[in-house]
Amino acid sequence: MALSNLECFQINPLIKDYNGPACAYVTGPLGGYTANSKGERFIECDYWSGQMMWEFYQELESGNGPVFLKVDHLAEETIQTIEEILHSNERPSRGRFHQGRGTNYRQDMVEMHISEIGFCSGHSASGVWVNEKAETSVKGLYSAGDMAAVPHNYMLGAFTYGWFAGVNAAQYVMDVEDSKLNQAEIEQEKARIYAPLSRQEGLSPEQVEYKLRRFVNDYLQPPKTRQKMEIGLRRFEEIKQDILQIAVHNPHELMRAAEVSVIRDCAEMAARASLFRTESRWGLYHYRADFPEKNNENWFCHAHLKKDEQGNMVSFKKAIEPYVVPIHESEAQSYDQLRIQKTHKETVTG
Ligand SMILES: Cc1cc2nc3c(=O)[nH]c(=O)nc-3n(C[C@H](O)[C@H](O)[C@H](O)COP(=O)(O)OP(=O)(O)OC[C@H]3O[C@@H](n4cnc5c(N)ncnc54)[C@H](O)[C@@H]3O)c2cc1C
Repeated sequence: MALSNLECFQINPLIKDYNGPACAYVTGPLGGYTANSKGERFIECDYWSGQMMWEFYQELESGNGPVFLKVDHLAEETIQTIEEILHSNERPSRGRFHQGRGTNYRQDMVEMHISEIGFCSGHSASGVWVNEKAETSVKGLYSAGDMAAVPHNYMLGAFTYGWFAGVNAAQYVMDVEDSKLNQAEIEQEKARIYAPLSRQEGLSPEQVEYKLRRFVNDYLQPPKTRQKMEIGLRRFEEIKQDILQIAVHNPHELMRAAEVSVIRDCAEMAARASLFRTESRWGLYHYRADFPEKNNENWFCHAHLKKDEQGNMVSFKKAIEPYVVPIHESEAQSYDQLRIQKTHKETVTG
């Protein structure tokens, strides 16, 4: 199966120490925004993208960091509206988190940070390659939503492509006979999945996952370099041995063990795809410190990853289909211009 643009990671702005976004894009229409420690706005758009995360990262690492959600300049009734949306509709635990930390929107900015990396077409562009019918490169298999490489498709894209996938899959099965199941393959897969239950002693899934996630953060988190990716690949290879020693005692732990194995595969794919694209693109999502420039001449294309006949991961380029609606050159470049430009007067007076 072909996977598309796995080097285009998803990285989100999060509330520091809280597992959720600060939602500056929710407060935006009400006057809130993403700010640096001086309370200054530095990006044109608060909704996240690779380029937005690049500007966020630059500010975070500069003398102006950290980065915050700023609503403390707003009127009391506006703040109450924001609290009602963010602390009930979005995440009820958020109000309790701020209360515990003593953060009050009326006088405090909310500190933000950067998430771990992930694969997700809902918020970036990576995933299972699909065509306009939601067909994958495996005949009879369809994909939609966050799994499928339909860039920035979010919930509306998940619904729309889910519909394409459902209708087209239903049409496909009308014309095919039931396949014969390969019982030997099923037994082999069951043996692999259930193996941790048969071990009396061994490593816990949590231990292996903790170790693996640390390597992901140490080696895959941008800025990326060839050296970091290659060391990461060596570590991910070693984790295969740890996975063979996982021992579990119940179905929940068995699920966690299966997840560790999948996370490892994703980490390896992320490293291999990142090594293949020798340029930088999508802001922070694929920032190669050793190839810092965007190179449209060689890399204005999709990068695909698949298994070859021997089961090895191989990368190859795939041309981009012509745009259905042509876009103006200024529009094509607007993605790279998210940072608010200082006026000459501001630059002179500081
Ligand atoms: C914090 C956050 C805020 C968001 N806000 C918005 C927004 O405001 N607007 C918007 O349009 N989009 C938003 N999105 C994006 C949107 O939620 C996703 O793009 C969309 O839900 C993807 O739908 P999906 O069906 O592909 O995946 P999911 O909704 O993730 O569904 C996948 C399901 O598969 C299940 N599953 C996984 N593995 C297995 C397995 N092995 N066996 C059985 N089941 C399994 C999971 O439990 C899950 O229920 C947001 C996402 C996040 C994370």
